Amino acid sequence: MDAFSPVPPQWVVRASHALGFCCSGCGAASRQAEAVWINRSAPVYRDGQRRQWQEFYLCGQCQTAWWAWSSDRPPSCFTKPEYQDP
Ligand SMILES: [Zn+2]
Repeated sequence: MDAFSPVPPQWVVRASHALGFCCSGCGAASRQAEAVWINRSAPVYRDGQRRQWQEFYLCGQCQTAWWAWSSDRPPSCFTKPEYQDP
């Protein structure tokens, strides 16, 4: 699966905004998601400087789809370079 595909996967349409950067259904962390899609084609500029975008996650525990702003992601969530901000 390509997290940076320009075409959104079907499950993102039922994603709901999760404020705590974890699954809104069961509280699982984003790294426990079985699928990830990052909406890089529509970045939002907040405070005139920081760029952020929606990150969609499909929970591997309960299949809940949720999303959160990239700027709200805890730094420890991902260690893979491809998930770090440019
Ligand atoms: Zn869940």
